[in-house]
Amino acid sequence: MIAEVIIDSKARKLNRKFDYEIPKELEDLVFVGSRVLVPFGNFKELEQGYIINIKEKSNYEVKKIAKLDENLSELNIDLARWMARKYFCNVSECIKLMLTPGTKDKQKEKRVKEKIYEFIYLKIPYNEIEIDKIRGEKQKKLITFLNKNDGITIKEAEEIVEVSRSTVNSLIEKDIIKIVKEQKDRNPLVGKRIIKNKKLELNEEQKLAFNTICKSIKDNKFDEYLLYGITGSGKTEVYLQLIEETISQNKDVIVLVPEISLTPQMLERFIGRFGKEKIAVLHSKLSIGERHDEWMRIKNNKAKIVIGARSAIFAPFLNLGLIIIDEEHDQSYKSESTPRYCAKEVAEFIAKKRNSVVVLGSATPDINTFYKAENGEITKLSLTKRANNSNLPEVTIVDLKKELAIGNKSMISTELYEKIEENIKKKNQTILFLNRRGYSTFIMCRECGHTLKCPNCDISLTYHITQNKLKCHYCGYQKIPDKYCPNCKSEKIRYFGMGTQKLENEIHKLFPEASTIRMDIDTITKKNSHEDILNKFKEENIDILIGTQMVVKGHHFPKVTLVGVIAADSSLNQEDFRANERTFQILTQVAGRAGREELPGNVIIQTYNPNSFPIELSKTQNYELFYQTEIKLRKQLKYPPFCDIIVAGFSGENENEIKSVSLYVYKMLEKNLKKYGISVFQPMPAPIDKIQNKFRWRIIAKGIVTKDVNIILNKCLKNIYDKNIKNTKVYLDINSNNMA
Ligand code: ADP
Ligand code: ZN
Ligand code: ZN
Repeated sequence: MIAEVIIDSKARKLNRKFDYEIPKELEDLVFVGSRVLVPFGNFKELEQGYIINIKEKSNYEVKKIAKLDENLSELNIDLARWMARKYFCNVSECIKLMLTPGTKDKQKEKRVKEKIYEFIYLKIPYNEIEIDKIRGEKQKKLITFLNKNDGITIKEAEEIVEVSRSTVNSLIEKDIIKIVKEQKDRNPLVGKRIIKNKKLELNEEQKLAFNTICKSIKDNKFDEYLLYGITGSGKTEVYLQLIEETISQNKDVIVLVPEISLTPQMLERFIGRFGKEKIAVLHSKLSIGERHDEWMRIKNNKAKIVIGARSAIFAPFLNLGLIIIDEEHDQSYKSESTPRYCAKEVAEFIAKKRNSVVVLGSATPDINTFYKAENGEITKLSLTKRANNSNLPEVTIVDLKKELAIGNKSMISTELYEKIEENIKKKNQTILFLNRRGYSTFIMCRECGHTLKCPNCDISLTYHITQNKLKCHYCGYQKIPDKYCPNCKSEKIRYFGMGTQKLENEIHKLFPEASTIRMDIDTITKKNSHEDILNKFKEENIDILIGTQMVVKGHHFPKVTLVGVIAADSSLNQEDFRANERTFQILTQVAGRAGREELPGNVIIQTYNPNSFPIELSKTQNYELFYQTEIKLRKQLKYPPFCDIIVAGFSGENENEIKSVSLYVYKMLEKNLKKYGISVFQPMPAPIDKIQNKFRWRIIAKGIVTKDVNIILNKCLKNIYDKNIKNTKVYLDINSNNMA
């Protein structure tokens, strides 16, 4: 027998199949989807490859497969081949997403070792311990805890029982406890407190949604739903009950959430309902070892529910019943590096093959998703009321132009100032949202107009006051601030633009008595800092939480009654056809953080464009009216969903080569795509035309990417790769989220 094998390589030229003979002893063991080691070319070492087809004979003289490695499912191979065509990349790059983490490297010795944990057990039965004779309070506490929870790790003892290693050691010396080394899964949920959360009686709207989706799950048929419900309308409760139903039918569930929503708070609701054992968590902050173990728990059918970010869609379940994609409008579901896949599209592909159900949930659906729902391509189920009867917050829009006119140059309008003051007095909490980190975001010489930019990127440097550094937020370049203008040597270097650090400073000046905490990438440096900051805010009743995007996602703080948006315009001014959509989404989401329980909420949105419709409509959070307005514009201007935007991107250090390559591609696209009604625009430098010393050019084309167009695009790419252009990287992306 002959296997057709794809070599594991990023080299575009190797994205093709090679024939290998299957040795007799492997004949019953390998099939489509097997990962194997094969001799290749003149390489000394064996290469890794994947079997994508098996046939009787070959027309060539072939070498033998050397070794079998891991078996993937045939569906995975279908998926990878489909992805490679759709997202213009190598099959092997897609397969990698489906392999057990930590095993995809060629250096097999480095594979992750199974980790050994130290578990604490009581050495003598609890009722035989003379607890009164033990002096240390901490020691007593640990013993009492172990009585009910024998076999916790030392780390858990430290985190949950809050005892130190020395407490553990003294109890070992007294022969009361013992340490046993065991190899167990590194479950990232170890150490999480479980507070049971009971199933709620669903309201009428929730019931209708639940019953409708349940029917499809029971019928084992592919169906796709949009669960469209305002923030706090009880979408998560519906998910939880759908999951319960699915696993009771012995089927598995994937829950995708945006990476930054994957907070402990969010996980607690799931763990509280289903326990730790059934849940696996997959996200980028896990160590490779943890990811490996979670993957194995899924493969071995121990975990039934996966909660994770984008790539968790590839979780190796065989009996998948339900895929839930929460906050489906979130940009993070589309990958912006190779393979540039969209998890929603992949979910659809998998669900069709596995006869499972897809549920997309959002308060502000992606315009494309809502359009599909309106056209009946997917079924819309609406939740229109807040589930716990709390009211939607009162939203006020403040015109910053008017503030300037009355001489208020601060970042805080009079109205917001008064509301913050009142909130501090009442001991309620406030969240302030500003989508820029750092102190000053723009540095310029008043004498000559020179702006300080990163030497490697076409990006303004941001001043960070805590470290007294200028930083590039793209490549990480940093330096001590200049005293003199590098251009004219004048001393008149001035700092403009405001980031979260400056906002925090300003709040300290305006409200010296208020306690504040800041959350942005600069304060989230350790694995748990995200969690720590949120806990601190909640438990220590800090007055004001200041932060970027991270503060607006899915948190639930009962005492937050005021949310201030410092500058709503930043997302509006993006050079992207989705600027309106993003502005409306983020404002609605921010507003959703205020007044989630009994206390009424207030939201203040500061802006220079109070009359732009995304801002105006966020006052009433009227998504449907927003949608109606936006979809008309999209139709008029020929943007998605009425058209696809094709980007051909070029990057490299040699700008002349980029120019000539892009011109060559332009001519080829122009010639081949015209008859499909696709307009191709001239190559141009990208809006950010240099990142990390690499020049960036691009071609934009607009039209509908049909199957035929996809084939032509793939052919064009192959043509370019065959030309062996060494120094210019070329990629294709459809409807990219990042138009910079
Ligand atoms: P969403 O996911 O749409 O933002 P959640 O599921 O988080 O909404 O629900 C918001 C709040 O309402 C939560 O505190 C939740 O416990 C509560 N809730 C949800 N469904 C119900 C229900 N049927 N009855 C009472 N409270 C509910
Ligand atoms: Zn100057
Ligand atoms: Zn840079």
